[in-house]
Amino acid sequence: MIIVMKQQTPKQMALDVMERIKEMDLEPVLLEGTERNVIAVIGDERIVDEHVLNSLEGVEKVMPVLAPFKLASKEHSSEKSAIVIAPGVTVGGKRLAIMAGNCAVETIETSLATAAAVKKVGANIQRGGAYKPRSSPYSFQGLGAEGLEILQQAKEKSGLPIVTEVLDTRHVELVAKHADILQVGTRNMQNFELLREVGNSKKPVLLKRGMAATLDEFLMSAEYVLSSGNPNVILCERGIRTYETATRNTLDISAIPVLKQMTHLPVIVDPSHAAGKRDYVSALARAAIAAGADGLLLDVHPNPSQSLVDPDQALTFEHFAELMDEIKLIATAVGREV
Ligand code: PEP
Ligand code: MN
Repeated sequence: MIIVMKQQTPKQMALDVMERIKEMDLEPVLLEGTERNVIAVIGDERIVDEHVLNSLEGVEKVMPVLAPFKLASKEHSSEKSAIVIAPGVTVGGKRLAIMAGNCAVETIETSLATAAAVKKVGANIQRGGAYKPRSSPYSFQGLGAEGLEILQQAKEKSGLPIVTEVLDTRHVELVAKHADILQVGTRNMQNFELLREVGNSKKPVLLKRGMAATLDEFLMSAEYVLSSGNPNVILCERGIRTYETATRNTLDISAIPVLKQMTHLPVIVDPSHAAGKRDYVSALARAAIAAGADGLLLDVHPNPSQSLVDPDQALTFEHFAELMDEIKLIATAVGREV
């Protein structure tokens, strides 16, 4: 960390700041300049509240050197993390992780049909929400525990591991019993108690970016899970809120290369919740893989117009199969496989 003192402030002010730094168990080094003094701080600056230093008399600015997210950063691990979900299913390896299924779990028939259809064309994980975060309390809220049982049965039949959302700290234990990946949705990205709880569970966690979260905030949320002792975090870009209304959200494609530079964690993309409209999903999915995403999370339904949640964005089985053919071509071009 570098602390820049204001121009022409007495040296004593810099010495006072250095005293405070020593009290914080860090080592300050004074660099006396002709115009102004600068203090270099040696040690793990992440334990220091930058705002406290900024508020000290004579301080002009405080410039952190290390990323504030310690465990998520490349400084912690320069090797790309690959998260093992089940035997033969990894997120962050050469093979893309294709998570596909219903937005919400509906019936055993729908789940079984979907699992069979998506598996046949190359999906390796089934999605489905038993607990649904809905904007309206009057909308279908998901089947809850019954939905988890359906997912369990679908998994036994298809062999596909399950990703499903956990909304509440009270449900983590139950959801973790059935799920292979615990999804934390966009609305809960900064539910710090939930992040700690899924961190304690040690199950792989799929963390979706908050719809108004910066990438720094996204990684600080991942840090909550990591620092609770769970290294298995998958990041998911799912579109952010912008002024554009033509799509449900604006897919931030730049997030993929930027996150790849900031963190060792795998990054997948949910083009379904980004687009909000079926017609745009495939193009966004292709773009995501071309930009280096480690996988996709997609809404697929045997009869989208009958889907209880997000009918506009679900792909039909045929549409999904076509997309998988396209993804295979792009995967080869970028050195990945499906
Ligand atoms: C979902 O994936 O079902 C979902 C609710 O997504 P998001 O949290 O991104 O809105
Ligand atoms: Mn949905």
